[in-house]
Amino acid sequence: MQLTFTDSPLDFAGLQRGNADWIFEQQASPDAKAVLFAGPDLALDERGEPMIIPARRTRMLPLKSPGLVFLGLENGAPWFAGTLERGVADKGPDFRITAMQVDPALACIFGRARSLLQWHGRRRYCSNCGAENAPSDGGTRLKCPSCGMEHFPRVDPSVIMLPWSGDKCVLGRQASWPQGMYATLAGFMEPGETIEEACARETMEEIHRPVIHARYVASQPWPFPSSLMVGLTAEIEPGELVPDDDLEDAKWFTRDEVRALYDSEIARWAPKHFSISRLLIERWLDGEA
Ligand SMILES: [Zn+2]
Repeated sequence: MQLTFTDSPLDFAGLQRGNADWIFEQQASPDAKAVLFAGPDLALDERGEPMIIPARRTRMLPLKSPGLVFLGLENGAPWFAGTLERGVADKGPDFRITAMQVDPALACIFGRARSLLQWHGRRRYCSNCGAENAPSDGGTRLKCPSCGMEHFPRVDPSVIMLPWSGDKCVLGRQASWPQGMYATLAGFMEPGETIEEACARETMEEIHRPVIHARYVASQPWPFPSSLMVGLTAEIEPGELVPDDDLEDAKWFTRDEVRALYDSEIARWAPKHFSISRLLIERWLDGEA
């Protein structure tokens, strides 16, 4: 099962993109495409499709700072992204819906674009001295012309885990979720801890059970706006669950109970490949932990 936002077709061209002349040539190439956003969601063209146009045509369009951002090369063809000024184009559906519907390769390209553009929206000014940052490396980094500080795009790692013991697993639910929906536990990593330590800390905080052994399974870029979900399974000590304030409930589930939940209407709105939470659950249902 290929997870959405993984296995990107893009070569980020890290060795070439620092050369401004090279970036300029890529933008001028007849093969260069640009995907355009309206706020956090994709802009729509006149057919109601995601707005993807030749990069050269974006010169006529009002784009928010810093203009076009280089995403990478797909089979040698350059991709760029930009955010239109408000009111220039219609906005598409919520980005999650778009990402579920488009081709997996496009979902990767759009996801990278969204993370980079959202970062630009929040980092226009230097966090060290307040001067306006200038893009470099095609917009994949920012440099402050006043104090010289370099700013790199954010990636916020989170652990996401399926705790289990014997032949049962633990799923939790948040009050804002649809009635009856339960899923894996998750939380942001903190400075000074390993992935396994974050998994043990979050599991203890969320359900008050000690982790005996945690195992890394896979990771998934999650462009909402710039997380990296690090997926694990965690063998925990059996016993009573005490959900913390973030969770409305947490319960032990048998495999049959998990299958019944994920075959029901409650969980069917999202395709299986959309989130690493589902991957962890499907693997456990198949007997892998
Ligand atoms: Zn500065």
